Amino acid sequence: MDAASEALVTRLLAGERRALAKAITLAESTRADHRAQADALLQAVLPQTGKALRLGISGVPGVGKSTFVEALGLWLIARGHRVAVLAVDPSSSVTGGSILGDKTRMEGLSQRIEAYIRPSPSSGSLGGVAERTREAMLLCEAAGFDVVIVETVGVGQSETTVAGMTDLFCLLQLPNAGDDLQAIKKGVIELADLIVINKTDIDPNAAALAQGQIRSALTMLRPQNAAWTPPVLTLSALRQEGVASFWETVERYRDTMQASGDFEVKRRAQAVAWMWALIESGLKARFDAHPAVRAALGTLSEAVERGDTTPGAAAGELLRRAAQ
Ligand code: GDP
Repeated sequence: MDAASEALVTRLLAGERRALAKAITLAESTRADHRAQADALLQAVLPQTGKALRLGISGVPGVGKSTFVEALGLWLIARGHRVAVLAVDPSSSVTGGSILGDKTRMEGLSQRIEAYIRPSPSSGSLGGVAERTREAMLLCEAAGFDVVIVETVGVGQSETTVAGMTDLFCLLQLPNAGDDLQAIKKGVIELADLIVINKTDIDPNAAALAQGQIRSALTMLRPQNAAWTPPVLTLSALRQEGVASFWETVERYRDTMQASGDFEVKRRAQAVAWMWALIESGLKARFDAHPAVRAALGTLSEAVERGDTTPGAAAGELLRRAAQ
């Protein structure tokens, strides 16, 4: 590692936000030399990672994610925590960064030295975004942030992805019946370790009703973990009501999971799944770049389109070429 990289490591470990921003930018870069620098950096700080509580937050646009993250972040900072907020938004390359991109969001939190807010990397594919976000998470931990919040919108597989990189996945819901049915249909509720009904200030009765409905729906699902049945909380992010009991529940979850050993088991499984995701994307990249594959791809896919060759035979031929 060169002197500049070593200096960056030192500044990062000292918790300097500018060093953290620079390190994440290196990790997000597509340049090979940046990639190599980022890999060396990640390896160097690895012993200092893993100490944060990793919290995933999801919900449809408008449910109040950023209002809640701001309220929670400020509440945590007041209690001595340092909070990093990352976003996973696979659509950001198309929309120009829809979540966290807007500077007016989380205005209070973004001004605090104890907070670090980073919009979604805009690498296009969800796999690419997830890879970069996992690395950013480790870098935030190395910089001493003890709570890392990963926010995502309820689009496609992004919720599964975020649930797969966090210790606790929390789903934010609107206080109306029907909304919960959508989440149940999509299978998102099954991912949740904790469900929060926001905006209870608008109509407390409706919120209580939705709470009851989700609770009874949950009894029909098999819990992911024997030791933990996902609680359903109500709160008002706007009025900052319910934040303390939210955090109490998060800590209870962590304590329960640590006591049963499931906390570590989950993290290890996530690390191995991450390795496989990297292997798959690496193999795909090699396949795509292989000269013998590129030479035959056009002809073979046309043959498949015309029905002259089966997809299986064409795939087999391309894979044979890639292996040579
Ligand atoms: P996001 O798209 O999920 O990040 O949602 P935002 O945090 O941007 O919130 C969307 C809108 O809902 C904003 O106008 C917020 O002020 C409002 N909002 C958020 N939380 C609450 C709440 O608890 N009560 C009420 N009444 N409005 C809220």
